[in-house]
This record gives sequence, C-alpha cells and structure tokens, in this order.
Amino acid sequence: LSLQPVDLDQILQDVTLFMQSQAINKNAVLDYQSQGSCMVLGDANQLKQVWINLLRNAVEAIPKGGYIQVTLLAAGEEAVVIVRDNGAGIAPDALKKLGTPFFTTKEKGTGLGLSVCYAIIHEHRGRIQVESSLGQGTAFIVRLPREENPS
Ligand code: ADP
Ligand code: MG
Repeated sequence: LSLQPVDLDQILQDVTLFMQSQAINKNAVLDYQSQGSCMVLGDANQLKQVWINLLRNAVEAIPKGGYIQVTLLAAGEEAVVIVRDNGAGIAPDALKKLGTPFFTTKEKGTGLGLSVCYAIIHEHRGRIQVESSLGQGTAFIVRLPREENPS
C-alpha cells in the first residue's frame, strides 16, 4: 500500500466512466456529482477497486431502467462518497453479514467484493456505513480523512 496525495474526484470520474457501459447494458443511469477536487492520502488503484466493487453490486442490484447515484462531498475533515441505488435492498439478517468473506446471496457470487472494500477502507483509516431498505434501495457511505492542506 503506497499512500500518496490523490484526488478522489479524479478517481470517481475515472471509475464512473469505466462503469458506464455496464449501467447502459441495464438501461440504467449512473450519475456522478461532486463539488470538485477533494484530496485524500491513498493508493489510487486500491481506492478505484473499492468503487468498482460497490458499483458492480449496485448494477447487479438494480432493475432495468434503474439508477445509481454517486456523490462526493467534502464534510469538514472528511471526504464522503455515497453510492446509492434503487435496487433490491438488503435484508436485515444479510446486512449483519456484509463484509464477511464469502458471504453472498448470488448464485454465482464470490462474496469477496465487500470484504475487499472494507479492508482497503480500513487501511486508509476510513469507514463504511450501509443504509438499505428492502425493495427500495441501498446506500454505501464511505468516509475517508481528507489530506491536510500542505500550506
Ligand atoms: P458478491 O457480489 O460476489 O455476492 P459482495 O461482497 O460484493 O459479494 O456482496 C455480498 C452481498 O451483499 C451480495 O451477495 C448482496 O447480497 C449484498 N449486496 C451488496 N451490495 C448490494 C447492493 N447494492 N444492493 C443489494 N445487495 C447488495
Ligand atoms: Mg460483489
């Protein structure tokens, strides 16, 4: 893990562009909103992996014509990234097992995507919060410490 100053806005622009074709395959909208550059100390490739995994899950959870909204906010000392979908949602008993390696509800799932996300975000001294209601959708909220302004 090599921690460098990286711009989360740039990372999320790259990842949402990369995932756009998968959303289009489902007639879904993948929208990204931010207030501009937001620096964190991180490993760009590992951070990209986090949002690729979250967006893959979102694409798999939404119905045809669904939507996925990615939002980047700077909130005080923290960078906050929200990935919200209007998909199937997560049942309460499954919610407790999220991030456990090999936990999956999918026929061909590996159950590794989220455990990788949790490990990477933990290494970056961040945290992940999940809000979900069955039949309505899910939001994964990732918080990372912002890089101090080096001035
Ligand atoms: P996999 O995608 O291989 O099943 P993950 O670790 O990525 O493994 O996800 C684990 C489980 O968490 C999924 O099987 C699914 O039940 C649930 N899950 C994750 N993200 C979402 C989401 N956005 N909407 C609904 N369920 C989700
Ligand atoms: Mg997955």
